[in-house]
Amino acid sequence: MKYPEFAEHKIIQRICEPERQIIFRVPWQDDSGETHINRAFRVEFNSALGPYKGGMRFHPSVYLGIIKFLGFEQVFKNALTGLPIGGGKGGSDFDPKGRSDAEVMRFCQSLMTELYRHLGEYTDVPAGDIGVGQREIGYLFGQYKRVTNRYESGVLTGKGLNWGGSRARREATGYGTVFFVQEMLKARSDSLDGKTCIVSGSGNVAIYAMEKAMQLGAKVVACSDSGGIVVDKQGIDLDLIKQIKEVERRRISAYSEEKKDARYIEDGNIWHVPCEVALPCATENELTGNDAKKLVDQGCMAVAEGANMPTTPEGIRVFQDAGIAYGPGKAANAGGVATSALEMQQNASRDSWTFEYTEARLEEIMANIHLNCYETAREFGASGNYVVGANITGFLKVSKAMVAMGLI
Ligand code: GLU
Repeated sequence: MKYPEFAEHKIIQRICEPERQIIFRVPWQDDSGETHINRAFRVEFNSALGPYKGGMRFHPSVYLGIIKFLGFEQVFKNALTGLPIGGGKGGSDFDPKGRSDAEVMRFCQSLMTELYRHLGEYTDVPAGDIGVGQREIGYLFGQYKRVTNRYESGVLTGKGLNWGGSRARREATGYGTVFFVQEMLKARSDSLDGKTCIVSGSGNVAIYAMEKAMQLGAKVVACSDSGGIVVDKQGIDLDLIKQIKEVERRRISAYSEEKKDARYIEDGNIWHVPCEVALPCATENELTGNDAKKLVDQGCMAVAEGANMPTTPEGIRVFQDAGIAYGPGKAANAGGVATSALEMQQNASRDSWTFEYTEARLEEIMANIHLNCYETAREFGASGNYVVGANITGFLKVSKAMVAMGLI
């Protein structure tokens, strides 16, 4: 046995039990004066390496089970970054779709009126996730500042650039995923240059994964939202996607209204579009065993997850049996939370770094995560298996710290 102290200290049993779970009521009024009640969660999973850190998700599918699995992933992902952050996750079953800015603001203020007492730059530092972007972080930060009477920048990340945010944070998850693909391909003496690429989703992660893939010479031919997929053989027009999604907050079907030679397929399956590189950047379980087979049959050679656990266990098995490069989310999408930790560093030193410097730090962090996963997999007899590499690397970091800190 390699680490007998982990069994002796019951590390598995302790690591699987969140340190603290908070569930609370969020009452708010819509623009017509009607009252709504939502349920919100914060699962403070593990603080062996630093303050709890992880996003808040606003989506009708949110319940305790989702937040717990995301929080568990976050513990090991955050450990992989090599930065001093523990793991946590939160969210609410609030559906922001179709809500006005004023309604979103009232919801965020009500949520923070309870959550603030559990947060702090040394305690728990939330950020964005699905349904939570800079607008929501702004309302949450404003209410935290008001009820605590403290300008505590490091209590939330994903802030705006003129009020404590970090350059390159918005781009970081997507860029990081593509840096990870670049490293996986480099390890196979290959590169992204000239590769055909598909990216599921069209939110923050997907948009910046597309941007970096294009910058590195790939051609992105498809992306999606929950209504359908857009296929553009000429290469996706990213400015148009940004306009539709970031500015107008509309459905992606609008793309084909503007671009006549692109195709919008309602309820289409993006994994049926032939590609060499596939980047799932939407949500969990979006890529099944059958989807994986289709991808491999049509010549896909690399998959990296910008979303959290988008590939089902059957899908992962298909990729691994086919011997293609597969980067699991906890390694491939760690660039987002890593840059959140860089935002915390800037807040702590009351400094703000250039885009170039921050992006260079991100690229270096992703290269290190890749190297650590690659070498750990080899050490444990699973060469090329990034799932084994990522899980063991993250687990060892957290477990060793827990042993050192005694039975708490
Ligand atoms: N929600 C992102 C994730 O899944 C970012 C978390 C953060 O920046 O704290 O890693």
